[in-house]
Amino acid sequence: MPEDFRYLTPRDPFLARYAGAAIHDSAHCGHDHGTDVGLYFFGRPAAPSDTGCSAPDEEEQRLAVVPRCVLADLFGAVLARIEDSESPEAAERFMDAVAVNRVRAAARLHELAEQRRDCCVAGFRTGGREHTCGRTDTPS
Ligand SMILES: [Zn+2]
Repeated sequence: MPEDFRYLTPRDPFLARYAGAAIHDSAHCGHDHGTDVGLYFFGRPAAPSDTGCSAPDEEEQRLAVVPRCVLADLFGAVLARIEDSESPEAAERFMDAVAVNRVRAAARLHELAEQRRDCCVAGFRTGGREHTCGRTDTPS
């Protein structure tokens, strides 16, 4: 077994119902992969009876700021785990789902930019009417 694999005992597992991502401009990985990525997870501490993406009663938010090189390692490991435990086709289906979600998220980001809601919390919450970031342009 390669050195980068270990047996882990889960501590305080968290069941994410959904997740989001953001770019963290303040940090860069040391491998010239660009800015770090913030991964936001919404869900709750996992109970033994939890299954998959069932709706939680109470929702918590957890943030992990991940260097992009670590994220690439993680995605590769996820694909290898799916392929190893299921099949190469299952890993391909997962990548197909990733591609579909990439297109959907890109369209939503474009929409937020057109609405001037992509720059600050005030812009986001007021539909682009008010800003705390200094933005003064008008909708096109
Ligand atoms: Zn703004």
